[in-house]
Amino acid sequence: MTPDPAITGATGRLTIDLDALAANHARLAAHVAPAECAAVVKADAYGLGIAPTLRTLVAAGCRSFFVAHLAEAHEAKPLLPDDADLYVLNGLVAGTEALCASAGIIPVLNTIAQAVRWQALAQQSGRPLDAALQFDSGMSRLGVAPEEARSLAQDPDFRKWVRLRLVMSHLACADDSAAPANGAQADAFDAMAALFPGVPRSLANSGGIFLPARFRHDLVRPGIALYGGTPSDITAPSMRPVVRLEARIVQLRTISAGTGVGYGLTFRPDGPRRIATLGVGYADGWPRSLSNRGAAWRGGKRLPIVGRVSMDSMAIDVSALPEASIAEGDWVDLIGADQTIDPVAADAGTISYEILTSLGRRYARRYVGGFGAQGAE
Ligand SMILES: *Cc1c(COP(=O)(O)O)cnc(C)c1O
Repeated sequence: MTPDPAITGATGRLTIDLDALAANHARLAAHVAPAECAAVVKADAYGLGIAPTLRTLVAAGCRSFFVAHLAEAHEAKPLLPDDADLYVLNGLVAGTEALCASAGIIPVLNTIAQAVRWQALAQQSGRPLDAALQFDSGMSRLGVAPEEARSLAQDPDFRKWVRLRLVMSHLACADDSAAPANGAQADAFDAMAALFPGVPRSLANSGGIFLPARFRHDLVRPGIALYGGTPSDITAPSMRPVVRLEARIVQLRTISAGTGVGYGLTFRPDGPRRIATLGVGYADGWPRSLSNRGAAWRGGKRLPIVGRVSMDSMAIDVSALPEASIAEGDWVDLIGADQTIDPVAADAGTISYEILTSLGRRYARRYVGGFGAQGAE
């Protein structure tokens, strides 16, 4: 077989640990039992790859999945067993009702107009259709207002033609366990959910899972915690890291005091330094805000990023390593055991979600463990 240049020539490589993903799901599921632990797999499973993620989570026993877009649902649906439920969080886009129904995808109804259109399709086709109904419990993002929830609850035709599988809402401050908004949203959610007795309830995302038990209801919807992010400020069990990102040294040099590095020459050391150029840049999703901030790691040593992050490369100071211990072609860790996605995000002034969902397409990807061992070096 001819070697694949995208793999052999890659200067960045991403390793996704499917055993860690399965372990994180098991941990969350045990924490919330007897509530069901679903999985949020929007945005290509937070950038980790929808197919291996679904294969792993299905094998782990997960049967409820959430994506954001109908197109994502169409990609996910054939990868799921018949007994799995697949929900579209962003709602029912006008004109997509028949597509959604024929594919067996469950829309999250966020507005009265969406509810009306879904009900109309059900009546036309003469069979009730499944849906979730989202309440706005205080975030002002998606979902019906309390008075709208009441009118739907009191509408016998809606109740007859739309078979509600779930009522749900979303927390604005779940990662901040002390935020008073959490309790207020839980109260608002409970009041609206009470209008639909017997319908399963869902409020918690990853952060909500580690709030008190009243936030767990019947089903929880973790995303980031599955993928190794720290879900909350509470002393939650730290989740197992799922992602390792390595960058290759494409050039090494020693510079003298005062020599500039990178665009704008924004780094000028006060003494001689050993500088390595890595073949990863902002076009690979490595944030440009990490210019002169953050670090790579190798052999337990922190190697600071120096100068500006370029499109395809960036420089690190490797002076902390013995000169003979590294060479062109060697790899350093950008995300890994020494530095998980949370500190990378903090250095970049963002959140772990953005780091994961920005991961570039140029990396050589490897899936290890579980059911996905494949890929290559
Ligand atoms: C993205 C999303 C989730 C998952 O959130 P995490 O913080 O990643 O756990 C859950 N519910 C809704 C409605 C979402 O949009």
